[in-house]
Amino acid sequence: MKKLVSREALGIAKSILSHGSACDNCLGRQLAQISTGMTNNERGRIVRKALSEKKTKKKCVICNGFFQNIDKYARMAIKALKEIEFRSFVVGTVMSSDLIKREESLWEDVGIEYCETFKAESNRELGKILERRTRTRVDEKKPEVNVILNLAKNKIELQINPLFVYGEYKKLVRGIPQTKWEKYKETVEDIIAKPFMRESRGSGHAMHAAGREDIDARCLDWRPFVFEVLNPKRRGLKLEKIRKEINRSRKVEVENLKFSDKKEVVMVKSLQPDKTYSVTVSFENPVQKKDLEKIKKILGKIEQKTPKRVLHRRADKTRIRRVKDISWKRINNKKLEIEIKGEAGLYIKELITGDDGRTKPSLAEVLKNPAKVETLDVVRIHLNE
Ligand SMILES: [Zn+2]
Repeated sequence: MKKLVSREALGIAKSILSHGSACDNCLGRQLAQISTGMTNNERGRIVRKALSEKKTKKKCVICNGFFQNIDKYARMAIKALKEIEFRSFVVGTVMSSDLIKREESLWEDVGIEYCETFKAESNRELGKILERRTRTRVDEKKPEVNVILNLAKNKIELQINPLFVYGEYKKLVRGIPQTKWEKYKETVEDIIAKPFMRESRGSGHAMHAAGREDIDARCLDWRPFVFEVLNPKRRGLKLEKIRKEINRSRKVEVENLKFSDKKEVVMVKSLQPDKTYSVTVSFENPVQKKDLEKIKKILGKIEQKTPKRVLHRRADKTRIRRVKDISWKRINNKKLEIEIKGEAGLYIKELITGDDGRTKPSLAEVLKNPAKVETLDVVRIHLNE
């Protein structure tokens, strides 16, 4: 406390006041580093008293009356936040060019040795009022809402941070893509989104999954995903209710829903599990029983050029993936049911057909018999191997 009324501090305070009428906050803020453990307002009051200066009702020339009117901004923020369910927030300030000029010219005069910035104080002080009146808390790291005090536009803007929910899904029917795709009207994402959007009143959504199955393939094992709701107005979702509703679609089933975060999106996207597929394959010519053992020749390394069917949207590259296991069941002399365990990224359809020599070896090649995929399902996602 002694230092606060030192000659140096009082000298600074005097020069501030030479700019015109200044509020306690602005006085105290320039001396913030001198004496801690109190607010700028308290600090300013002490200095003012030491200078025998009277408190003035005039508009502060430093903050242009902001701190004298902070309650008005708090009310604006509370009004903007009224429709939104949140537990944590952080305040950010956009200063007007006029305020920036005022702060800079003050610093030129009194120096910046002991000061705190206008923004640091406006963020903190508005934050304290909002914490108290909305019974929420400031969270710098993971706020649910960013309250932007825009003093250039004299308004409060809100950025509602997305809501993330982790889950795992099965796709029980063929013919729906995982996410928006060309002419398809329904997607796995849409089916999952429906209850989420209604309950959260968000403005949009995104689906982040650990890989995707082909549109015409079912996915009969649980595939991890993170569902992201943009601008949610409600966060306290009843996940069990949402799960049940999705599962009633009979097209997509979900389980293990839990609140998540952005980090998990990265984690889920980086998963590259092996997968086991069940494929029904029909052949042009009858497959002789003695030839069946040749199927094992496709175990091991497979060289795949980008399949023709995806060439229009992917670069033409050669990739090497492994077939780790294979077994088969004869349905008739021209049809087999094959189970293939392959490394992440292995193109299964091309492994069967050979894709005009772009995948080597292929089932058609080792059996010397043109082959076609009738149905394809993901039956296992080997997450923990
Ligand atoms: Zn002020």
